[in-house]
Amino acid sequence: MKTSIATVSISGDFREKLAAIAAAGFDGIEIFEQDFIAFDGTPREVGAMVRDHGLDITLFQPFRDFEGLPNPLRAQAFARAERKFDLMAELGTDLVLVCSSVHPAAMGGIDRAADDFRALGEIAASRGLRVGYEALAWGRHVHDHRDAWEIVRRADHPNVGLIVDSFHTLSRKIDPETIRRIPGDRIFFVQLADAPAIEMDLLYLSRHFRNMPGEGDLNVTGFMRAVQATGYGGPISLEIFNDQFRAGLPRLVARDGHRALIDLMDRVHRAEPNLPMVQPALPEPTPVQGVGFIEFATSHAEVADLESLLAATGFEHTGQHVSKSVRLWQQGAINLLVNTETTGFAHSAYVTHGTTVSDIALIMPNAQATHTRACALLAEGHDQTVAEGELAIPAIRGVGGSMVRFLDADSTAHSIWQTDFHHPPAPAPMGAGLTRVDHIAQTMAYDEMLSWALFYTAIFDASKAPMVDVADPDGLVRSQAVESGALRVTLNGAETRRTLAGRFIADSFGSAVQHIALASDDIFATAAALAQRGFPVLKIGQNYYDDVEARFGLDPTFTAQLRAANILYDQDPGGAYFQIYSQARPEGFFFEIVQRTGQYAGYGAANAPFRIAAQKRASRPSGMPQL
Ligand code: MG
Ligand code: MG
Repeated sequence: MKTSIATVSISGDFREKLAAIAAAGFDGIEIFEQDFIAFDGTPREVGAMVRDHGLDITLFQPFRDFEGLPNPLRAQAFARAERKFDLMAELGTDLVLVCSSVHPAAMGGIDRAADDFRALGEIAASRGLRVGYEALAWGRHVHDHRDAWEIVRRADHPNVGLIVDSFHTLSRKIDPETIRRIPGDRIFFVQLADAPAIEMDLLYLSRHFRNMPGEGDLNVTGFMRAVQATGYGGPISLEIFNDQFRAGLPRLVARDGHRALIDLMDRVHRAEPNLPMVQPALPEPTPVQGVGFIEFATSHAEVADLESLLAATGFEHTGQHVSKSVRLWQQGAINLLVNTETTGFAHSAYVTHGTTVSDIALIMPNAQATHTRACALLAEGHDQTVAEGELAIPAIRGVGGSMVRFLDADSTAHSIWQTDFHHPPAPAPMGAGLTRVDHIAQTMAYDEMLSWALFYTAIFDASKAPMVDVADPDGLVRSQAVESGALRVTLNGAETRRTLAGRFIADSFGSAVQHIALASDDIFATAAALAQRGFPVLKIGQNYYDDVEARFGLDPTFTAQLRAANILYDQDPGGAYFQIYSQARPEGFFFEIVQRTGQYAGYGAANAPFRIAAQKRASRPSGMPQL
């Protein structure tokens, strides 16, 4: 597979773009004319610079408003084309993208356009160049790839071919299966972009909100399945116009793009096993079977505070690592590690973030296969040094700098406590009745959310829930849940520093796990057990309970129980959700205790504003009025 990306997709100056694109492993670039014009160098120098980065120029674009014009505009369009052909020869590329005309004087008519392209094809052929025609979703007369194909077919010139772009086809809800019938050698180029399912003007959506395949809601996989079925063998290129990406770090955006392409072609291969493969086979994505452990990095100065919170939450100290300063705390099927090493990964996580979750271990059907898949999807492998006799656990760097480890369901997930820990074989303590990890909430800058979601959905067999908005008194927080088997992650993107999530990012120097939700099967019994242990419960305002009673028509005796235990309540058509929060630790981390009944599918988003308000009240210095 020859991969390519349009220079416009990446931020930075031309040199930075090239470096980032090459580092992410792409084979080529589409040169966007504006990027070239803004660069201070001759076309020959630009071409040489691109090739010095090991990249090809796969396409020059865009050439606008060409077809269907009356004279003298038609003659001027041909003269403009000749100048672009000169430029292409200097740059060293043979293919130009002509997008369907939006010119007010352009006339319709498939044969008229076909005649123009046949004439242009003759000129291009005389110079050894090729012309590709793309239907813009907002083209004046041509806005459907089927019409663009008919024009190319009737132009009947070997140097004139079709360019298809998933955004233009899918955003107009045109069935991508119609591409399957086009001969693959008549398609000169394929551009890919996804987009969120928002109803808005297509030109505006295209210019600002395109995103990487898999990050949006368009059926890019279906589109690419049809393209591959034609026998198309040319470059597969990303053309992403996105305001966030243009403000993002070039290397990260380029890496996400390449990751998205590899994942997409893997999906295409799984759906079309009879088509030739275009990249080495990846191990299949599998659902996560469980959370093996969660590790906190802390220091000798802060460990007592953290461990008293664990004890108050019902955990018991049950083991000690054989060679490291790492203690095991258990309750039900939940394993927490507390790491106070003064060297190594956890320590550097502590130095960066303060007391923080540094590692998450996931139980997989085949840990090594998941690791291989993740690394093929450009995750950074993490080799840890292990002492003699200890388990080597495959690990990758997660998004935001944390570590993700993979434990084998059949072996390491069970043997780690015997192999690596002094841990007397005994049933896990029942504690306050917490049984398992319900979800892990990660907080990041809003513009990193797509990147994080892509990380999970590419590596695992995972699904995304729709994004929801959470109103923080000081701004908006976006929240999106990603679920893969037993793993539920909520991604919270903060837009401003003043929101609680935004302050958390600022205070902890970057994105991290902000809270862990632990599941109980009997929330009232758990609440009583927690109270006995001195759990620092977050006090919920009284108005909340009046509102929730009215909203759901609850029995006042039941509401009184909720009120007495500071339990938040939500319900959906599937069932009910109960939540207890701890107060936040100084760096912002907190526990959530939940019970789901029936098939409740959410995360209590309706309650988040009240939780946030209560946390803000609780974090005010004493002596301040408690509003
Ligand atoms: Mg395009
Ligand atoms: Mg939560």
